[in-house]
Order: sequence, then C-alpha cells, then structure tokens
Amino acid sequence: MKTRVFSGVQPSGNLHIGNYLGALKNWVRIQYDYESIYCIVDLHAVTVFQDPKELRAKIRELVALFLAAGIDPKHSSVIVQSSVPEHAELAWMLTCVTPVGWLERMTQYKSKAVTQETVGDGLLQYPVLMAADILLYQAGIVPVGDDQRQHLELSRDIAQRFNSLYGETFVMPETRLPSVGARIMGLDDPSTKMSKSAKGANHSVGLLDSPSQIRKTIMRATTDSNPAVDFDHLGPGVANLLAVFQAFAEWRDDQMRSHFSGMRYGDLKKQVAEMVISHLEPLQQRYREITADPAYLDGVLKESVDRIRPIATSTVELAKQRMGLYTANTAA
Ligand code: ATP
Ligand code: MG
Repeated sequence: MKTRVFSGVQPSGNLHIGNYLGALKNWVRIQYDYESIYCIVDLHAVTVFQDPKELRAKIRELVALFLAAGIDPKHSSVIVQSSVPEHAELAWMLTCVTPVGWLERMTQYKSKAVTQETVGDGLLQYPVLMAADILLYQAGIVPVGDDQRQHLELSRDIAQRFNSLYGETFVMPETRLPSVGARIMGLDDPSTKMSKSAKGANHSVGLLDSPSQIRKTIMRATTDSNPAVDFDHLGPGVANLLAVFQAFAEWRDDQMRSHFSGMRYGDLKKQVAEMVISHLEPLQQRYREITADPAYLDGVLKESVDRIRPIATSTVELAKQRMGLYTANTAA
C-alpha cells in the first residue's frame, strides 16, 4: 500500500505565493509518489469569523486553484472538510486526550488570538481538528509550510497519547517542508509571515493577481538601506525576494549567487516580478478554463469524497472501538 499524503488550505482569503510555494507546489510535485488527499479546510476557516457568502465562494475558488496548480483529480482526491463529518467526530475524541496546556502554547493561537475581540474556543481547538484531519486518513506524510511545523508536532503528540492510552490506532505523520520557500514573508513587512488573513495592500501577491498588480506589489516590497544584493549581509526583505525567485525558478544556491550578487534592488525586483508572472499566468489561464465549467468542479468533489470516505469511516470506527464508545459492531 502506498503511503498516504494529507494536507489542506483554509478558504479564509486570497491564496498567495506563500501558500503556493510552501504547500501547493509540493503537493503537485509529490502527488504521483503517494496516495494523496488535498483538503479545503473550511471548518478551520470559521475559527475566525467568515462572511458566509464569501466563504462559499472561496471554497469553490480553492478547488479550482488546486486543479489549476496541477493537482490531478484522477489520481489525487480533492475534498471539502465539512463534507466529511468524520473530521469533526474524530476531533472530539482527540480533544478528550489533549491537555489544554499543549494548545495554549501554540504560537499561531497566541498570534491570532490577539487580533480578536473575543477569542472563540475554536481558535484554541484548531490544532486538535488539524490532528484529526491527518490521523483520520492515517496519513504518513504532511507537506506544509514552516508555520505548521509546531502543529504537526502536536498532531504527533496527540496520536502518541491516544495510541498509548488505547492501543495502536494511528499512523505517526511526518512533516514534509520544501527546501526553499517554506516560509515566505510579508512583502510589506519581512518580519511577519505572508498570510491570507493579513491586511495591507502590499502584503502579498495573490495567485489570481494581474501581471500589473504583481509588478506593483513587488516593486514596492520593503528592502533595506543598502543599494544592491550582498549575499554576506542579506537583509530579511531582500532574502525574502531571493527566496521567492529561487523557489519558482528552482535554481541552485550557486546559480542564485552568481546571478544576483551586486544586482541593484530595482533590477532584482523586476526579475522577481517577471519570474512570478511567468509561473502564475499559465496557472490563471487554467483557472479560467476550470471555472467556466462549474459542474466539473462538483464532479471532482463528489468523486473524491466517494473515494476517501471509507477510509474516514473505518478510522472513526476503529477509534470508537478502542475508546469503548458504542458502534454497531461493538460486541456486548
Ligand atoms: P491564514 O492567515 O488564514 O491562516 P495562511 O496564509 O496562513 O492563511 P493557511 O491556509 O493557514 O494559509 O495555510 C495553508 C498552507 O500554506 C499551509 O501548509 C501553510 O504552512 C502554508 N503557508 C501559509 N503561509 C505560508 C508562507 N508565508 N510561506 C510558506 N508557506 C505558507
Ligand atoms: Mg495560516
């Protein structure tokens, strides 16, 4: 049996090049080596308020973007989290083996909680639901960006705790980070990671941004007071622009050095913008073709759910049996 891969993106805003380089691009690259499940994690998105109409539209937009980026629905499954109720069901069982202290330590919880007037319990529970997403499919590999590393470690801790309390139940998932582009920083502020939910006109490059918009945002990216690229003294803004270029171009470090050493920031930005555009334009073209046929998207989702649902139901059944909960197959 092939190792299973699981990963997801929240429909919480416009997908940006950080999501692409940290997650999507690698999903596409490894999809044929594994049995892959890629998920639009809408139950995660509602841990902070989402406008229902916009959320509904974003879910469909994400399905189309996954496919436009190169996910092959004949081979990989593309599912919407809330269409498989076992995610939430398993999350409850895992909640009951997770100490609150583990959750309060999560840096994403701390940084997102300060942006909210009242902090919903869902924001604290987020990593438990994420553990459920992964463990539900007995996934062995989870390709994500660097910001999810801590949540992945917690998923392993939760799996380990469940397994030691109730007996071997879950496969231990492994984190898979890209070597370049695992943490793309905000273009307006290279000290914070690029995020869908961040505000600010020049923060990110969206996957559906027009070429002129992309040029404008990248030309305005924050750099530093030096005039040109110096690999021995790279400021965070310049390092970030170079990382964006390298991750798209797939150049080696020595190629990057010889090409960009001494280049003035204005020229660097122009080259980064053109590299990004050359990859996003064909993706946008495919996106337009895919969205022209809404029935096709629904078909992909239905076929995918039919394919993966038996895995989800059998894991929940197993977890219930292990915990002593009632199932139709429970012996008296
Ligand atoms: P939000 O602000 O709503 O949390 P986000 O941009 O952080 O949005 P997520 O949906 O939380 O996006 O994450 C989707 C995937 O993209 C995850 O694998 C995550 O690690 C990856 N990712 C998110 N931001 C970046 C980034 N700046 N650089 C690289 N990978 C990223
Ligand atoms: Mg995030």
